[in-house]
Amino acid sequence: MTISAQLDQVRASIAEAAQHAGRNPASVALLAVSKTFGPRAVIEAADAGQREFGENYVQEVLEKIAAVKASRPDLALVWHFIGPLQSNKTRAIAEQVDWVHSVDRLKIAQRLSDQRPVHLPPLNICLQVNVSGEASKRGVRPDELLALAAAVTGLPRLRLRGLMAIPEPVADPVLQRKPFTQLRQLQQQLRAIGIDTDTLSMGMSADMAAAIAEGATIVRIGTSIFGQRDYAH
Ligand SMILES: *Cc1c(COP(=O)(O)O)cnc(C)c1O
Repeated sequence: MTISAQLDQVRASIAEAAQHAGRNPASVALLAVSKTFGPRAVIEAADAGQREFGENYVQEVLEKIAAVKASRPDLALVWHFIGPLQSNKTRAIAEQVDWVHSVDRLKIAQRLSDQRPVHLPPLNICLQVNVSGEASKRGVRPDELLALAAAVTGLPRLRLRGLMAIPEPVADPVLQRKPFTQLRQLQQQLRAIGIDTDTLSMGMSADMAAAIAEGATIVRIGTSIFGQRDYAH
């Protein structure tokens, strides 16, 4: 299937999951995760109407932004960095992308704020939370989230938009919802202390419907749009 046809299918699945949850389909944004796929795949998706792209390797996103810009300067794309970020790589990310979903410590947030160029709008930030059952060590612990969020709201060149999670893959759609419930509740706890955010970045190809049922406002979809990734090269 073409990328355009796969995108249509994903959009239809999002609409169906949203309607099933009693939500407006327009309240769920689709982030196309193009990692490991080249600039041509991005351009193909863009020509099918996709505007928001997610990447999780620093070098790869920088090269891809430059390549897409060079061959199609007409495309106004929105780039989201969703992968692990080391402090020595923050400057290029602060200069080149519109969103970072994977902030989990204050030092990284401070650097992104310091390094965000003044001619650009504030960088949109999600805090990555290590929700229950998460395999990786990444993400802020839930009991440390409120303090981190409060500190990040004080940084002048960042705009705290919400929370992100990457739960461990499970097949059961009922169990899939648990970590997403937790993320939604953490967002409500932030609201209760006066930190109002509008974004829950949760749900990937295999657990998108569960995430939408729990309030996802951005789903991050790679495989269902671009196909299986090949890490052999
Ligand atoms: C790769 C990746 C995705 C997309 O995963 P798929 O299962 O291919 O949809 C989403 N979020 C993050 C953080 C990723 O690294």
